[in-house]
Amino acid sequence: MKKFFALCLAFVLLLQTGCGTPNPTKYQRVDTAMGTVVSMTVYTTGSQEILDELFDGVKELEQDTLSRRIPTSEIGRANAMSGQEEIALSELCGKTIETCLQIAEDADGAFQPALGNLITLWNIDEQAQGPSSAAVIPTEAEIAEALEHCDYHDIKLNREQDIYRLSLENDVQIDLGAVGKGLALDVLRELLEKSKVSGATVSVGGSVLVYGEKPDEIPWKVGIVNPLAPGESLGILTVPAGQCVSTSGDYERYIEADGKRYHHILDSSTGYPAESGVRSVTILCENGMISDALSTACFVLGTEEGLKLAAKYNAEVLFVTESGEMVMSDGMKGYFTAK
Ligand code: AMP
Ligand code: MG
Repeated sequence: MKKFFALCLAFVLLLQTGCGTPNPTKYQRVDTAMGTVVSMTVYTTGSQEILDELFDGVKELEQDTLSRRIPTSEIGRANAMSGQEEIALSELCGKTIETCLQIAEDADGAFQPALGNLITLWNIDEQAQGPSSAAVIPTEAEIAEALEHCDYHDIKLNREQDIYRLSLENDVQIDLGAVGKGLALDVLRELLEKSKVSGATVSVGGSVLVYGEKPDEIPWKVGIVNPLAPGESLGILTVPAGQCVSTSGDYERYIEADGKRYHHILDSSTGYPAESGVRSVTILCENGMISDALSTACFVLGTEEGLKLAAKYNAEVLFVTESGEMVMSDGMKGYFTAK
């Protein structure tokens, strides 16, 4: 009997020390994709080739589905057919547009997936990379003309079972720049679930996914940038495994003219960069694409309406206002620690 207990004890100890299971190794890589910095840290008992797979996943999503600048991507083809024929979409692209249209409706147009013409007119992304002295601001007439073709109601999506068909009316152009980075996180999560990765943190521009556990079991932490001094942090979020954090801020991409900042988040009710009194918005929720869409939408809506929209999607939100004040949903207070 004594022998039996000793054997049982040895077995329990063996289980507790995890003897027989190799410790995960940490691998890291930083690269660019989707026009932004992509950084990944994974803990895995498999090989570091998983990093190639993950990066390929992001690049494929950009090339095959999302990019407006690649004529052969689904969005590229849809935009080229605007005002002409209906096109068939992949399930991923169809579902993405379906969710975007729902969020556009719930955000009363503050999130506007049909904003391609206005975004092209402002051309903030490219101008922000050039010399600031050369920045060109569109005229009011040009903005009014572009706005005539920027309504998400002109995106017609039909679904029969799992087959999606899309047609664009009134010459609208789709731009999914506000959800692409978050959607990449959802694609990466699926790849991670099929791998030997036990824990990972991946960031695609301003969107971060924390996945599984770290070997030291210390919770994942994500820093919150101070939008009034982007080199500094305001504090950290302790993020539960499996959650996504997306931030939209006016410091990310902008041009300056006549002493005024024109940033990359546009308000389709005015045609100009949104002026809602906030400098950045951070969303925490389970779905990457929704976190990204909501960060953009809440930036345009401002604190009062933004809090309501985030609550509708069970998402937590943190705003930093023009005066540097932080406004948070009640749930967010439990995750945030000030610096
Ligand atoms: P984010 O950094 O996630 O807030 O996304 C900003 C990007 O989304 C911009 O660079 C545009 O491509 C696009 N965008 C700008 N304003 C809007 C808007 N009101 N609704 C949807 N997309 C937008
Ligand atoms: Mg966004």
